Amino acid sequence: MDRITNTEILRYAPDMVFITESDGRIVFANDNALGVLGYSLDELRTKTVLDISPVDWRDTYRASLERVAADTQRHTFEIRLVSKSGQKIAMELHVVRLPSGMLYGSCRDITERKQHSAKLAEAYKHLTDLIETIPDPIFFKDGDGRWLIINQPAKQLFALENIAWHGKTDMELAAIQPSFRAAYEGCVKDDALAWDKGSLLVTEELITSLDGDQLTMEVLKLPTYHADGTRRGLVIIGRDISEHKRAHKRIHELAFYDPVTLLPNRRLLLDRLGQACAASAHRQSHGAIIYIDMDHFKEYIGSFGDDLLREISQRLVDMVQVGDTVACLGADAYVVIMNALSPTLSKAADASMVFAERIRAGLKQPFLIHGKQIRTTASMGISLFLGHEEIAEILLNQAQGAMALSKSAGRDIIHFYDADIQSGLEKRSKLEQELRIAIEQQQFVLYYQIQVNESHHAVGAEVLLRWQNPERGLVQPTGFIGLCEEIGLIVPIGLWVLEQACKQLREWAGDRSHKDLVLAVNVSAKQFHQSDFVHQVKRILNETQARASHLKLELTESSMLSNIDDTVSKMRELQTLGVRFSMDDFGTGHSSLHYLKRLPLDQIKIDQSFVRDVTNNTHDATIVKTIISMSEALGLNIIAEGVEEIAQRDFLYQHGCKDFQGYLFGRPVPLSEFEKSLHNNPIKTTNQA
Ligand code: C2E
Ligand code: MG
Ligand code: MG
Repeated sequence: MDRITNTEILRYAPDMVFITESDGRIVFANDNALGVLGYSLDELRTKTVLDISPVDWRDTYRASLERVAADTQRHTFEIRLVSKSGQKIAMELHVVRLPSGMLYGSCRDITERKQHSAKLAEAYKHLTDLIETIPDPIFFKDGDGRWLIINQPAKQLFALENIAWHGKTDMELAAIQPSFRAAYEGCVKDDALAWDKGSLLVTEELITSLDGDQLTMEVLKLPTYHADGTRRGLVIIGRDISEHKRAHKRIHELAFYDPVTLLPNRRLLLDRLGQACAASAHRQSHGAIIYIDMDHFKEYIGSFGDDLLREISQRLVDMVQVGDTVACLGADAYVVIMNALSPTLSKAADASMVFAERIRAGLKQPFLIHGKQIRTTASMGISLFLGHEEIAEILLNQAQGAMALSKSAGRDIIHFYDADIQSGLEKRSKLEQELRIAIEQQQFVLYYQIQVNESHHAVGAEVLLRWQNPERGLVQPTGFIGLCEEIGLIVPIGLWVLEQACKQLREWAGDRSHKDLVLAVNVSAKQFHQSDFVHQVKRILNETQARASHLKLELTESSMLSNIDDTVSKMRELQTLGVRFSMDDFGTGHSSLHYLKRLPLDQIKIDQSFVRDVTNNTHDATIVKTIISMSEALGLNIIAEGVEEIAQRDFLYQHGCKDFQGYLFGRPVPLSEFEKSLHNNPIKTTNQA
């Protein structure tokens, strides 16, 4: 230390050093100060510090000088000095009064530091502006849980706009702002979790908005740390996902619930049924499913069907026990799952039957829909289950099969599932598949059965459908027509038959010996009641150029009477083209004279069941006689089908029936054979009548 003097220390100090009188007159400035300011020491000695300060800062400095001179403390100021060339330099000044009364000041150029912090401030402003533009609520708390940033959407959410929230903790905020209190409970509680986790925490919170709406918020909490590992703060971002949640819920409902009744749909039912099976295995206790199908529901569809369905489902829901499921399979079919009935099969069966009876009785009580009383009944099927091995889908089919049995046994009945029924159902579904293939591969053929007059001359034929199945061989219509009607396949098949018959008529029209033949085509109820039936017949007649007068459509009583107005108008329209109508299977339905009078019929066909015993059963004989005289009274032509014996033919003839069809004259045969057979029964020509 001996080798350097104090003056040297001052002179070469890295900071700028000034020594002034107490009034600011400069006594000494070190080299650094001279270099920065551009003055010589002599020049400076003629000035006070105020002289090298910006004019507008001088008053402040003067006051500061007084403060420094008044005590022996060290003071720090941010000042500006002006160099000889007029450049303004930002400085940090440390100043102290020396024992001599002089002032010692050391300054450091802080221009760079100032620029840096200005940049930082700008960046901070950018950031806060950005945060404000984000529509999601954003919060920032420091490491002690004090609020530092809350953006506008967040302020709105908790009504913090007019609240001094800055620097407050959650608890302090909750104390002054009730709207925040609720959130404090729900949303803020996860802070600890986020800190524990040390990384992003995503939660969902239910928040009641100021208008009382329940909002679902997805909340992201991200803890941040200082370099030394201490807590810096928590970034919290909320997002209102209520709409998304609602959409999600709706999608779920659509996928798993029936849209009309809001009951579980088939998908959810199968799922619950799977669970019920597993639970029953676990408890070793039987459960049951009850398949409920409303009877004659079609009558209500369109008018107030949906309201009725909702009422029915409500009634079912009211009847079942907590934990049992009621599902709606669409249309008018419901399923109830009953759990834990009994470990004993017979007791479980009894219990399910008792309950099913209650449902049956319950559904029979009239419903009041739009002020109208509606009475319905239900057909039901029950299937019991125990254990894993049951497959939900099979169980459901079993119950449905049992229900179908109730339907066919006259409706408003309850049946238990039975294995035989099941195999019947399976066969049916196989048949259905095969029939669809049959259409594609055109496996259907037409047979012709002769119809003759009193002189046994052919007047025409009934066209009868056969199915040439590669495995089953030739299948008679009784083996598949019923199913085709049920599943709607009869419509395309029926049109095909009609088309074939018309093509044949057209072919015969050009042939002298066949031109008078009339073809009778069976038309099923379903086909006839299609809204475009008349249009289709016209189209086929047009396309084939067949003569309408040689086409006879056979309809059954039941199909004619099911919608009499529709029937009459369709018949009339076709009749104007020349098409004729025959009532098939007459006597087997609920024939009513009243209706018969209204129908524009050409012919009545006595059903073969009356013909069969007409010669040895007086009852049948009476019926046949009545039918004949009634037809005469109505001016209708009459034909008997199923005529196998001469005695039957004679009886019919004696009582006034002039046309016949039956094995006595010919069985249904393929076209070529039919045409050949005409030699035995020469055709009745128009002038022979
Ligand atoms: P259906 O219209 O009453 O036809 C008469 C049925 O009686 C035919 O049976 C015929 O083979 C049979 N049959 C005729 N004469 C005699 C006889 O002397 N003795 C006996 N025991 N039976 C006789 P198939 O061909 O089996 O037809 C049964 C039913 O299938 C038909 O009854 C008709 O309802 C329906 N069907 C047949 N073809 C068609 C069609 O193309 N469309 C529609 N919708 N139904 C058809
Ligand atoms: Mg027929
Ligand atoms: Mg018939």
